[in-house]
Amino acid sequence: MAVFDTHCHLDIVASQGIPVEAGVQNAMEAGLEGLVQISTDLRSATFNSQLPQRLKHLLEARPDFQLRWTAGLHPEAADQLETLEDIFSIVRKHRDDREFLGIGETGLDYFHSTEFVEQQKQSLKRHLELARELQLPIVIHTRDTRQYEPGKTQSVQDTLQAVQDVGGIRGVLHCFTYSYEEAMPFVDLGWKVSFSGILTFKNSHTLHEAAVRLPLDCLMVETDAPFLAPVPNRGKTNQPAYVVHTLEFLKNLRAEKLGEDPEQVQAAIEKNTRDFLAFKK
Ligand SMILES: [Zn+2]
Repeated sequence: MAVFDTHCHLDIVASQGIPVEAGVQNAMEAGLEGLVQISTDLRSATFNSQLPQRLKHLLEARPDFQLRWTAGLHPEAADQLETLEDIFSIVRKHRDDREFLGIGETGLDYFHSTEFVEQQKQSLKRHLELARELQLPIVIHTRDTRQYEPGKTQSVQDTLQAVQDVGGIRGVLHCFTYSYEEAMPFVDLGWKVSFSGILTFKNSHTLHEAAVRLPLDCLMVETDAPFLAPVPNRGKTNQPAYVVHTLEFLKNLRAEKLGEDPEQVQAAIEKNTRDFLAFKK
């Protein structure tokens, strides 16, 4: 089983009681092929840049396991815009490292902070420009404050506009929580759509529909650990190993609703993840 957790925060997982090494070891034991460690600020970008060295002993023992990391400023941290150049220096310095994947997470979050919307937009634009310049994939976070109406999510629409304005970029909509209508313009640009443990929640009806309607070749899975642990671990501290539950759910959902072969769904998700890693030129 070659499963990949395409989005996790091992540093935040560690702050909730599961040490970084244990998080990676558990992922290896659960049969994962790799994980992408995501940055949210200068501190985590620095942490990530040191991770391959720190985990050297674990990674050397399992040469088939792939560690990847990103650097970027989360929209909720848009008040730290002055740190962006330092984060981008880390990107430039590690651009060609094998373990370095790309830029993010960045994006627009109108749910947590409406106070810094202009800073968020500025930050997103600068991330996108760097992604284009260096030919790197980008990891996008969006969240909205408005009452949900399919196809009318402002943060997603503003993100799409920014992506189109800069042009020539590919990436992933991480922890996707909206509808088919929101995802498709990105899918048409060759982007991936990643589902977290929220997909396994009983009441995620819109999301279930999106996961069924979206084309198979855009789908990926992630934990966003330590947040949003999937059923049957809901409420626990999430960790990369738990991504297997979201994958199982997605396979079974597509099998049940579309009659697709679960093994083929899994093979497609594996291929999509490899394609995503190859967005880095
Ligand atoms: Zn995240």
